Amino acid sequence: MFRTRFAPSPTGPLHLGHAFSAWCAHDAARAAGGEFLLRIDDLDQSRARTHWEQQIYEDLTWLGITWDGPVRRQSDHLDDYAEALRKLEARGLTYACACSRRDIEQAADAPQEGVPTFGPDGRIYPGTCRTLALPQTDAHCIRLDMAKACTVGLPKSFHETGQSRHGTHALEAQTLLRSVGDVVLARRSMAAAYHLAVVLDDSQTQISHVIRGKDLFDATPIHVLLQSLLGLSTPEYHHHDLVRDDAGKRLAKRDDARAIAKYRADGLTPQDLRTMVGL
Ligand code: GLU
Repeated sequence: MFRTRFAPSPTGPLHLGHAFSAWCAHDAARAAGGEFLLRIDDLDQSRARTHWEQQIYEDLTWLGITWDGPVRRQSDHLDDYAEALRKLEARGLTYACACSRRDIEQAADAPQEGVPTFGPDGRIYPGTCRTLALPQTDAHCIRLDMAKACTVGLPKSFHETGQSRHGTHALEAQTLLRSVGDVVLARRSMAAAYHLAVVLDDSQTQISHVIRGKDLFDATPIHVLLQSLLGLSTPEYHHHDLVRDDAGKRLAKRDDARAIAKYRADGLTPQDLRTMVGL
């Protein structure tokens, strides 16, 4: 069964880039006679707002997008994430980290030449707390010990069907260690960080095809690794190109000018928007 999803975060208005992403997934599901699910990625409770969630439903409905089954809200599944985290902890693949953002920046102040400082999650963690065995009570967050994780369960490759990166992508521990590092799995204020949550969500909702923007391509090796560690199957991945503004800059949520609701208020039709994003 072909099943895909659209997973916006309710932290601002949906813009043209979201419409394109939702249409890509929705149209693919309909063309395949499969299912299209809607998920609300609201784990960041400091930024998620009910009115943005309502706006998502309104905007998608106006765009002509229909979703199958109930909407899944990440905040309803905190126990599932906690259980997955416990599984990884029990295998010794995680550690508690007490570093603040500032500590990490200071530790990374003298970068080694040729070693990347930023990965898909921002600054690559220098590993300060990895061997300290800190109690969880002192921790700001729980991190994946990437070196151990890769030794235990790094798959050889994953498959991508998006146009610009089409093909099989080999996964190598050295690359993950250098360019990703010990990613955050959970924070004190957030039961699961993005990578752990999406992997669990996609598995529990039996997503066969993940269709999302190219900006998340670099996070995919982390997802494939976590799937393997948790004994979950890996879906097909398709990362579509991003909608850019006239100056070639990626659209952001704060870019209110491109909000779908704004176009709608200005009298444009969903078909006008489809044309604008090249569909
Ligand atoms: N919630 C994520 C976002 O707003 C997308 C998650 C995903 O597609 O994996 O960018």
